[in-house]
Parts: sequence; C-alpha cells; structure tokens
Amino acid sequence: MRLSKGTSKTKENETVSVLRFRLNPTEEQEQKLFHTFYLCRKLYNQALEERVAYYREKGISIRYTGQQNHLPAWKQEHPEYKEVHSQVLQNVLQRLDQAFVNFFEKRAKFPKFKNKFMFRSITYPQARDTYFHENKVYLPKIGWVRMMAHLPFDPASVKMINVKFHDGKWYVNLTYGTEAVALLTEIQNAVGIDLGLLSLIATSDGEFFENPKWLQKSEKRLKRKQRQLSRKKKGSKNREKVKHELGHVHDHVANQRKDHLHKVSRSLVDCYDLICMEDLQVKGMMKNHRLAKSIANAGWGRLTAYIEYKAKFAGKITIKVPPHHTSQLCSSGCGTIVKKDLSVRIHKCPACGLEINRDVNAAINILHRGLEILQQVS
Ligand SMILES: [Zn+2]
Repeated sequence: MRLSKGTSKTKENETVSVLRFRLNPTEEQEQKLFHTFYLCRKLYNQALEERVAYYREKGISIRYTGQQNHLPAWKQEHPEYKEVHSQVLQNVLQRLDQAFVNFFEKRAKFPKFKNKFMFRSITYPQARDTYFHENKVYLPKIGWVRMMAHLPFDPASVKMINVKFHDGKWYVNLTYGTEAVALLTEIQNAVGIDLGLLSLIATSDGEFFENPKWLQKSEKRLKRKQRQLSRKKKGSKNREKVKHELGHVHDHVANQRKDHLHKVSRSLVDCYDLICMEDLQVKGMMKNHRLAKSIANAGWGRLTAYIEYKAKFAGKITIKVPPHHTSQLCSSGCGTIVKKDLSVRIHKCPACGLEINRDVNAAINILHRGLEILQQVS
C-alpha cells in the first residue's frame, strides 16, 4: 500500500521508544498552544515560500542552516514570535527540511503549504529532567501543564517532548533513546500481515507466503523417521542407528525452517517501511489446543521476532496491534462484522459487497489498526 500521510520515523539504526500520556492544559494554556500552532504554521509556510522563490530566482536551494540563520531577523520583524520557544521554531524548519529531503530522495511529493488542520503538534527537541515534576510537564513559553502519567518513567532519559492535539484531546509524546532529533519522514510503503494457518502469511497487498514444498517434504521425512524409531526395540543396535538418523533429519528440518523464515522476513523488511502485525500474546486463538499446535509449527513467534530485529536494523518500523475481530471486520471501512468460522475462506460482506480472501481482509484490518496507532504517536 502506498502512503502519503506524514508519520514520524527516525534515522537509521536508532531505536526509539515513545511514551504517550494525556495532557490536561488549562484554558489559558490551551489558547497559548493553539496560538503557537498558528505561529509555527505561518513560519513553516513562509519558509516554504522562501525556498521556492529562492530556487526560482537563483536556481539553487536554501538548506536548513540558511533558514535557521534568518530566524533572529524573522523574530525582530515579527515580535509575536518571542512567545514561541526558539527550539520549537528550529524544529519547524527541520520538519520542512526533512520534507525536502524526502522529496529529493523520491520518498514523497513536493512539500505542501499547511492549513490549520495539518499543523497540530509542536516539538521541544531537547528535553531536560527539570521539565518534569510530580504530575506536570514544563513546556517552555506555555508553562507547567498537568500530565496524566499512567506509567512510571525516568525524566532523565527523555530526549524530546512532542505536544499534539488530536481528535479534540491533548497528548504529550516523550521520546527516549535517540541522540538526534527525530526527523519527520514519510512512510511510503506500509503493509499489514496476517499470520495464517494455511499459508504462512497473507499481506494487505494480497500476497501470500507459503511454506515451501521442500519444507513440507522434509517434515514428512521427519515424521516417518519418528514412526520408524517407535517401532524399534529398546536397547537394540538398530534403534540407536535410527535415533542417530532422526537427530540429523531433525536438525536439517529445523535449519530449513529457520532459513525460510529468514527469507520471508528479509523480503518483507526490504519491501516495506512499516510492517503491522498481530500481537501474538493476546491472540485468543492460542487458547485452542489444536490451533496452538499449528501456530507453533508455523513458527509465528520466530517469524515476528526476525521481522522485528531486521526492521530495527534497517531503520524501519514494526507495530504490533491487538488482533481482536481482525478476521471478522469488513476491511472496506463499512464497519460490518461478518461472522465466519475457519473453514470459510472468503470474506463476503453483505453490506458493501466486498469479496476478498479472508486472510487478506484480516491483513488490511491489521494495517489500518497499525496506522491508527502510529498517527496517535506521531
Ligand atoms: Zn463491507
């Protein structure tokens, strides 16, 4: 799936985690925040215009440093910008710069002017531990704002503070573990994957990864050897021989399995910037005995672990989503729940008419859920 929505992603090889809390600003603080959004957006659009004009006139582009050097003069000309923290303003220019980088690297369209609905967050790129006290966070130029910290956290490890207004609510995102400023880039390719029983996985793009035939053959050979062993007399020479052979076949099959999972995870991480998958720990299916066995065979846990570490290394994002109803909900967005047991392979929606493979339907729902989560933290 091709995307053009802006989402936050960090530079390569950085591992980042974000804690997200609700904020409860006073009315006065809320007005200040909205006004800051307005000023930042004006700066963003002005800086974009400047870049375009400069390029038209001189045929060269201005970069971040050039624009940042103009900030003091900009503030002199527009005294209202003294109300915005200087780092927040710098971050606005960094966002624009990153939008251009994405454009030049062919990851995104040419940067757009932003309207008031497109600019609803500000970032303090350099947090300090003194910015946190009891249940409050200090936002320079805004004040001490009440924060619903429902999890314990270490103020000294917070690198960056991002404040966001989303769906009528205020949030603060505390970023850990990255030295650099998290730059906004655009995710181009996102996928949802459904961990299947018949196929190994199905993707939201309608692709299927099967367990290969040679692997199935080896597994049959393994079962044959196990049966052979059980027929041999205990203590016999023959039994020792078969036991030895069984060990070999077992190792061989285990390696083949791993090898295949490496290939699948590699090709997913190469193709996609964002991979959404089910959170296996909450996958209710695990309670069912027979299914649990198939799950173990398919090596889901191993596959998701491979995807996660390869993605981390490649600077890509993985998101685990709660899997509830992903196979029943219609992925067209019509909101209909289409109940079906495992033997029904096609999702047929009576409300909107969608007809699609059941696993692909689930994979699309998983993708949508992942994107929702991502938008809340970015
Ligand atoms: Zn539908």
